Amino acid sequence: MTPKHPIPIPSELPRVDFGTRPLAEYRTTLVPGMYEELVELGRALAGARVLHLSATAYGGGVAEIMHTLMPLMHDVGLRPEWGIIHGTDEFFDVTKLLHNSLQGDERTPTDEQWATWHRYQELNAGLFEPSDYDVVFVHDPQPAGIARLHSGADTTWGWRCHIDLSTPNPRTLAALLPELEPYGVGFFHRQEYVPAGYASGAAWVVPPAIDPLNVKNMALSRHDAAYIVRHFGVDPERPMIAQVSRFDPWKDPLGVVDAWRIARADHPGLQLVLVGSLAADDPEGQQYLDATIAHIGDDADAFVLTNLDGVGEVEVNAFQVAAGVVLQKSTREGFGLTVSEALWKGRPVIGGNVGGIRSQITDGVSGWLVDSVEQAGAAISAALADPAAAAAMAMAGKEQVRERFLTPRYLRDHLLAYRHLLGA
Ligand code: UDP
Repeated sequence: MTPKHPIPIPSELPRVDFGTRPLAEYRTTLVPGMYEELVELGRALAGARVLHLSATAYGGGVAEIMHTLMPLMHDVGLRPEWGIIHGTDEFFDVTKLLHNSLQGDERTPTDEQWATWHRYQELNAGLFEPSDYDVVFVHDPQPAGIARLHSGADTTWGWRCHIDLSTPNPRTLAALLPELEPYGVGFFHRQEYVPAGYASGAAWVVPPAIDPLNVKNMALSRHDAAYIVRHFGVDPERPMIAQVSRFDPWKDPLGVVDAWRIARADHPGLQLVLVGSLAADDPEGQQYLDATIAHIGDDADAFVLTNLDGVGEVEVNAFQVAAGVVLQKSTREGFGLTVSEALWKGRPVIGGNVGGIRSQITDGVSGWLVDSVEQAGAAISAALADPAAAAAMAMAGKEQVRERFLTPRYLRDHLLAYRHLLGA
């Protein structure tokens, strides 16, 4: 098919420079035996060439995880590379629709939109030689069709699904499933995300993880956090609640605003901070950001901030540390790294009772799971009214994060998958 508009095609897949990081630095955060296991797995896979393919190098959970995983993979002895597929708005408009549809939206790509998607699969498939790698690991639906276009290549294929596939639009799923056949391993965050019709032997349940040592999660005192948030106009002397999320209907920022209004009746002076970055593959983001600002109206105690206001990693850390309560009030959520990020900082967390948030919070034990704006409002009020009880729950959550949701455990699952694919 001839493209309607000329597309500037790169001569090869752009690679991300992810730097280096010694695994040894993580030793004190690991559960016993994990470090030795990782070293051993690295030895078994020494020199293995692994190419990861994803849609963007910044913004959102996928990029976040990759920036930690790739350097550690290199440190244990593999030769990893991370390539970013080429796409323009016409492609990302389709992949956003595809993403939403696979998470249950009734809209489904039209034939013309599928044709656009396939055109970009072909374009990107031509930008690298899969036989140069022992394993090619493809992330999410955006580039998922590349493997089928290289069916003769001398490599092995893995697929990482970062989204909630528990109630997909059946038409969209049916169109995607044949594209997934070449993948010898598929990672899913939760068992219920493995779609009906997916080759069962290939499905592995592997939740993602947070990096305890990156700038966003490193230890930051409440004093320093207060100093930072003050720069954005927030009053550290008054209570504040925060949600850190892309501006997306499923993250429910409007619901967070409503819940904050409910809780403010019990806690006058309560401030709200909504932090969100605008990712390159998220054209709807700006639109939803505008809707959020409009929903708040003129209220000096609510702050809507983005990367464009200078909110980077250290600032996200500061807002999470300074918050009396962190929310992730999603109505659908693949995993929700922000939940583990906040628990790791010992903050009380209120999460939507959906998807991967349920893997991270046990309601009433390590946080609150809520099904409505009213429940969220009541939970905020309760957490602020009894900070000692809320802190005890947060600590229970933190210990679970230490065990299950830190990067070295995620690295181990990747290495096990490569070993499986290579029969090593
Ligand atoms: N994030 C950020 N700045 C923002 C918004 C989000 O750094 O303004 C980070 C957030 O801390 C988390 C990731 O982006 O590490 C979002 O991952 P999550 O799994 O919560 O959601 P996703 O965007 O992948 O749906």
